[in-house]
Amino acid sequence: MSLKKIFGLSPLETLENSKNITKKAKTLWEELKKREGLFPGFSDEAPDKTPSKLQDPKISPKSSPTAPNIEETPLFDPLAVEVAKKLSLPVLVKRIPRKRGMTFSFQPSGYLKILCNNSVDFAASSNEILKVQPWILKQQKFWLEQKELFPPILWDEGEQIPFMGSTYTFKIMESKNIQYLKFSDANHTITLCKKPSWTKAKQIKFIKSKFKEKASNQLKERLQYWSSEMQLYPDQVYFKDLKATWGLCSKSKKTISLNWKLIVFEQEIQDGVIIHELSHLKHAHHQKSFWDHVLKYQPDHNKWRKSLKNRAFLCDFLSNKPQWDNFPVDCYIPPVSY
Ligand SMILES: [Zn+2]
Repeated sequence: MSLKKIFGLSPLETLENSKNITKKAKTLWEELKKREGLFPGFSDEAPDKTPSKLQDPKISPKSSPTAPNIEETPLFDPLAVEVAKKLSLPVLVKRIPRKRGMTFSFQPSGYLKILCNNSVDFAASSNEILKVQPWILKQQKFWLEQKELFPPILWDEGEQIPFMGSTYTFKIMESKNIQYLKFSDANHTITLCKKPSWTKAKQIKFIKSKFKEKASNQLKERLQYWSSEMQLYPDQVYFKDLKATWGLCSKSKKTISLNWKLIVFEQEIQDGVIIHELSHLKHAHHQKSFWDHVLKYQPDHNKWRKSLKNRAFLCDFLSNKPQWDNFPVDCYIPPVSY
């Protein structure tokens, strides 16, 4: 996607000669030009068919060509700009009107996210920011390492695929008559046997459906094991593409849903989620009695829970969202290299 296309400019128009571009959009253009290196395939010259997040309606000139107050709204939160310059890293500030204090989180794609209310500015918060600076730098280093260790999976021969808490080597074979995805624990390989005519999209669709099948069988087996250990039996179990959670339990309906992407992680992590959801058949809350019940069956539950939280990104290759997501448009990236 070229910048000209995003800004709705004809091939002969430039930023300088266009009358159809607002001041806000110009500022954004300048910012995006600076970021080109951070968005592979994103330039004026090279057309790219990859859909881009940057086609956000907020920045489309079509949606705001004559908005009267546009110059009064800064593109980036002033706090984000100050913090980003101070710490030399990209920062996104989200304002939540009634929020008390500040919450910091470091996003896997490499930016700091700050949640705070509208009255928080840099002068009032600089002490707090300095206090968390060592933690932020540690997080930044950790995520840069993870990004290098786990590059996006493109399903090419020889790639390392996270599976059951380990990595398996991906292999591709071709056959006109038989198609399968075979998981071999003995030599840690996942072999795809595909038709020679298959496109990459068809391959990925097939792989994901087989992963889901494999996951459902594995999780069903663990659920049966823990059901009999804990003497808690759900009436119905679903293996789903849950977006924001690993498991769900309805005590009244006696149903449990598990996120099948748990197959990426160690059996202990899968067990932890299963024990957690089964315990909800007894305790429909997260009070002490619930946690006591969970810990009775998995004493190191908290360790595995934390591990799952830190490595949730590992299963992105099985979902439709991009692996190692880019920065949101309202995330400020300081001009200096970092
Ligand atoms: Zn719960």
